[in-house]
Amino acid sequence: MIVFVSACLLGIDCKYNGGNNYSKAVVDSLKNDVIIPICPEQMAGFTTPRIPIEIKDGRVIRKDGEDVTEQMKKGCIELKKYIDLYSPILAVLKSRSPSCGYKVIYDGSFTSTRTEGNGFACQTLLDNNIKVITEEDIMSEIKG
Ligand code: SF4
Repeated sequence: MIVFVSACLLGIDCKYNGGNNYSKAVVDSLKNDVIIPICPEQMAGFTTPRIPIEIKDGRVIRKDGEDVTEQMKKGCIELKKYIDLYSPILAVLKSRSPSCGYKVIYDGSFTSTRTEGNGFACQTLLDNNIKVITEEDIMSEIKG
């Protein structure tokens, strides 16, 4: 099965602070699948490291106040090219990210406050009928 995975969950240093969110649970659970790492923020052309972003009122706002929604949309256009190339069945995405978050994201206040919503890239995947789960879904499945 072809699976898109948030690259930071695989140990790629693409996170805003230059680090990653490596998840052994994710890697182990996909050992029989074909993994395609994706980082929608790098696809958008954001630098790494970069100023963090959150979604506020449907716009992508940098912590310094800059509206970078249009740049984020460019990343989603690039992501669509990956979708067309690989036709993935599933995407395992990093929870709460303004790009990769599924069902829950941060609320735009940069205070770690959560709200309902999908990240921009997650929404692109859902719009293309790709099943999405997060690393937290995998971890809670393991815990039972
Ligand atoms: Fe990870 Fe997604 Fe953020 Fe890239 S955009 S660092 S893959 S959560």
